[in-house]
Amino acid sequence: MIVFNKDKILRKTICCFLIIGFLSSSCEETEQDIAPGLVDEQQNFQLDLKQFDNGNRVMMQAFYWNVEPIGEWYNTINEKLEDWADAGVDRIWLPPVSKGQSGRFSMGYDPSDYFDLGDFDQHGTIKTRFGSRAELQGLINESHANNIEVIADVVLGHNSGGGKQDNPFRPGDTEVYSLFNEANGNASGKFNRTNAHFHPNDIHEKDEEALFFEKTDLCHDQPYVKDWLWKRDDSVAEYYKKLGFDGWRFDYVKSFSPIVVKEWNAKVGGFSVGENFDGNAEVLKKWVDESGSPAFDFACFYKLEEALDRFKDLTFLERDMLRKIYPDKAVTFTANHDTEKDENVNNNISFSNKMLAYSYILTHDGYPTIFYNDYENLTFQKTLKNLMLIHSTIATGNIEVLKSDKEEYIMKRGGSESNPGLILYMNIGRRAKKVEVQSNWLNKNITDYSENMEIMLETDATGKVELEVPANSFTVWSLAK
Ligand code: ZN
Repeated sequence: MIVFNKDKILRKTICCFLIIGFLSSSCEETEQDIAPGLVDEQQNFQLDLKQFDNGNRVMMQAFYWNVEPIGEWYNTINEKLEDWADAGVDRIWLPPVSKGQSGRFSMGYDPSDYFDLGDFDQHGTIKTRFGSRAELQGLINESHANNIEVIADVVLGHNSGGGKQDNPFRPGDTEVYSLFNEANGNASGKFNRTNAHFHPNDIHEKDEEALFFEKTDLCHDQPYVKDWLWKRDDSVAEYYKKLGFDGWRFDYVKSFSPIVVKEWNAKVGGFSVGENFDGNAEVLKKWVDESGSPAFDFACFYKLEEALDRFKDLTFLERDMLRKIYPDKAVTFTANHDTEKDENVNNNISFSNKMLAYSYILTHDGYPTIFYNDYENLTFQKTLKNLMLIHSTIATGNIEVLKSDKEEYIMKRGGSESNPGLILYMNIGRRAKKVEVQSNWLNKNITDYSENMEIMLETDATGKVELEVPANSFTVWSLAK
């Protein structure tokens, strides 16, 4: 939990209000007597941010690892779409929709039949873990009715759940499961596969990158594989597009050439993002250059994790990130289905620092992802919705870092002629802090929109102002009424 230090702030607020004449009672009055009224007055200080709609929206990762295996997931999230749209979600990213080897327990990352979306009785189930094709179609339609695009998670690197078949290029290995046909994990009969379509084969040993599930690592250099995945008019890509999918999240792109993504997108279009699981911003940049597609900003994720959790040093935020190189190609995030797996405790951003991490990605550039479990966590939801509102309104204009040291990070968004912009103040220290900064606001009243500090401040004639932040928390400043 973030320590909001409300008591102290409310007392400060009381005095602040007195000074500016909203109340006539004394500073000695107890918080219980007047605090409720103060909160109302404070809200009256804030501008209605919706007047500053800057067009920014967010993507919802609409699942987590091990959602209940009862075939009801599409129906579950269908009911949340209206709320998500209101909060600023313009895309949802679904888990892989095709039937996997683990049947109704499959999270979709073990693809067997790309054309079985809950249609065929195989791997012990008709529905996938998430529901039937009809329920998926209903979810897509309802998303579109709420102006939300639907992003398919496509797993192109490897396959699972085929029949046993010796591969002449793997002499002596009798445990190869590379046969996919109507009787072997591919009931749809579309894109049947044999050992020739996996590595090694008559073309080469492997792709340019490391093999993953190496015995059934798909070879995208085989014309037959390219045809079925994206080239034909009844390819996987075209089939998903016809269902209504608007874009693509490419799983584990280290396991095949970026050209695959480039060609897929050239054929079917739409938004896309690649999972290049790498904290090195230059590696991400190279992949973006070669694929032409945005990528998840793992560099930003790891810098946040290092700054907030691992080293407790905000100067890590000064290091390279994809969003600093290509803000329009960086999909930022603070958590995903992998980082929040139970066994992954050393590779995530702790709950106590989660809102600080979101305050960063929702005020900077890049296209932020909101993780389902964070948004649906009622401890976080109010703060997160408020940050999403800030993101879609006053988080705009040039980025300027005003202060960066171990415990404090202050960043200004310059806004525009018609938008006041903001100043984010992050503090991971154990004490509240104050610091004078140079704002763009001259002789103005400003207030905190994060709801962590309910006070109003005045900038001087040159724009200088002494900003404040509670211990282990953040504030977001912009013009008051
Ligand atoms: Zn190959």
